[in-house]
Amino acid sequence: MKKFLSLVYTFLTLNLMSITANAAPAARISYTVTFPEAQAHYVDIEMKLSGLTQKTTNLKMPVWTPGSYLVREFAKNVEGFTAWNNGKAIDAGKVNKNTWRINTTGISELTVKYRVYANEISVRTAFIDASHAFLSTSGLFLYPQGMLDQASTIKIVPYKGWTTVSTSLNPVGGDQFTVTAPNYDILFDSPIEVGTQDVFGFKAAGVNYEVAMYGGGNYDKERLKADMPKVIEQHTKIFGENPNKRYVFIVHNFLRGGGGLEHLSSTVLGASRDGYGTERGYLGFLELVSHEHFHLWNVKRLRPIALGPFDYENENYTTNLWIAEGFTAYYEAKAMRHAGLLPADGYVNTLAGSLSNHDNQPGSKIQSAAESSFDAWIKFYRPNENSNNSTISYYGKGAIIAYMLDLEIINSSNAKYSLDDVMKHMYNEYYKVKKRGYTDAEFKLGLEKFAGKKLDDFYKKYVTGVEFPDNETYLGYAGYKVSDELAGSNTPSLGIATSNAGNRIIVTAVSRNSSAWVDGINVNDEITAVDGNPVTDPANLIVNKNAGDKINVTVIRDGKQLVLPVTLLKSTRVKYKIEQADNATDKQLAVRKKWLNL
Ligand SMILES: [Zn+2]
Repeated sequence: MKKFLSLVYTFLTLNLMSITANAAPAARISYTVTFPEAQAHYVDIEMKLSGLTQKTTNLKMPVWTPGSYLVREFAKNVEGFTAWNNGKAIDAGKVNKNTWRINTTGISELTVKYRVYANEISVRTAFIDASHAFLSTSGLFLYPQGMLDQASTIKIVPYKGWTTVSTSLNPVGGDQFTVTAPNYDILFDSPIEVGTQDVFGFKAAGVNYEVAMYGGGNYDKERLKADMPKVIEQHTKIFGENPNKRYVFIVHNFLRGGGGLEHLSSTVLGASRDGYGTERGYLGFLELVSHEHFHLWNVKRLRPIALGPFDYENENYTTNLWIAEGFTAYYEAKAMRHAGLLPADGYVNTLAGSLSNHDNQPGSKIQSAAESSFDAWIKFYRPNENSNNSTISYYGKGAIIAYMLDLEIINSSNAKYSLDDVMKHMYNEYYKVKKRGYTDAEFKLGLEKFAGKKLDDFYKKYVTGVEFPDNETYLGYAGYKVSDELAGSNTPSLGIATSNAGNRIIVTAVSRNSSAWVDGINVNDEITAVDGNPVTDPANLIVNKNAGDKINVTVIRDGKQLVLPVTLLKSTRVKYKIEQADNATDKQLAVRKKWLNL
């Protein structure tokens, strides 16, 4: 992080001359947020700065929001920027995509006004309409260059009918509509929900929790109030403490919603309005709660060294998202299991599914967990039709690495330690004692401390390498055996994914080394016939065929008809099943007990 900042600063000193001295005296910064046209998705922001001493003031909009590793260019939504001093317009203009420069020679007070268009529904982008405002702060509030450490106050003037503010930022003077942030890292890490949301609370692990439900839905408040604390207590047990006094869940319920974004003392969750009604939907929501809440430790406090303090103007590269996200993905379910919210066999079945998915994805042989992390900005967040062939998710792969390490540590310590102890140790050592992020080598040392052995070989295979997980060994430690339910099958596969709109079969992906790959079926081809017989349903493409059979596939490509001879190859898909081994030893049973909290 330091490296990136210094590069940026070098660039700016060369180009923007006058900013170097402006970190000295504290400026007073406040924002007033109004919604004269909420119905058209606009928010109007007035920013006031006083106590300025520099000749030039540069105001900047972040280009990304931490936790979501993609440059989103939030400045694209800004319009109508003007600058004022004592009611008089002053010189201002843009100097690059996200920087406005104002001539503040001889003046100590500055007011700027701008509007932001906010009409993208997601947990990481602002959204405003007549029913509510979701203020994703990093895409809304300009910050003065060199003053990220400054406090600011935000006064919200609600749109008609809006009654409630939900945010982890503290209110000022008992007015919920005026909140304050001690610095910009906190401001950009504290989303604000304004509207008529349904708010309820509970206490867990000594912390006051608030849940703000936007959009209605068939959630059962009493059930959530009973189950969410179980997850929270379980997380707190792993790390040994819950560092917040107050924590806010902002939940956006849509017709179809999902995903979440972690913050220091809050989170934003997307949910499906009517999804709480089924057991599967309800547990899915709790698992999302578990994932994002676990992040308040893993990544928000215990973090890779590159992820904070943030450079808000550039990509922040780390090879450790497999820990930050993958371990969180592992713990979202493990914590649910340990809290008694998931049955052990269900947990193990889900793991079997994840292991099958990993081995079935051609990209798992191409991209390592470390590479997937580093390239998140250009690959994971910018997928294309070939992504399955060339990439692996650091979520899925990281969770698999976590499961192997967990069982490695439990086994080698005779069920004394688990991965939980590594997480707690690293949290204490780096967040609390050293007060900084960890390096690759430091995290590895933490793992080795509890595994009681060097993990160079493990890293070479699974972190920087692309070897398939050795499930027999790791699950064997816990007295489980793994089998492939598709082993020995001679089923052929074309190796394509298709969309089937209006009875037209359009190829959307071609799997590496599959029949379609080898014989040249392309993405965007429309398949119209097989062996001369018209087809309209992708399920009927290779009925009654065997591996080794040759077929002729008629496609329309770029308006031309082609007939492609295709030799059907055997499907290479696996479908793992995890079962308890007969005659498990006492040690295996002890490992299993520790792993699954039986
Ligand atoms: Zn996450």
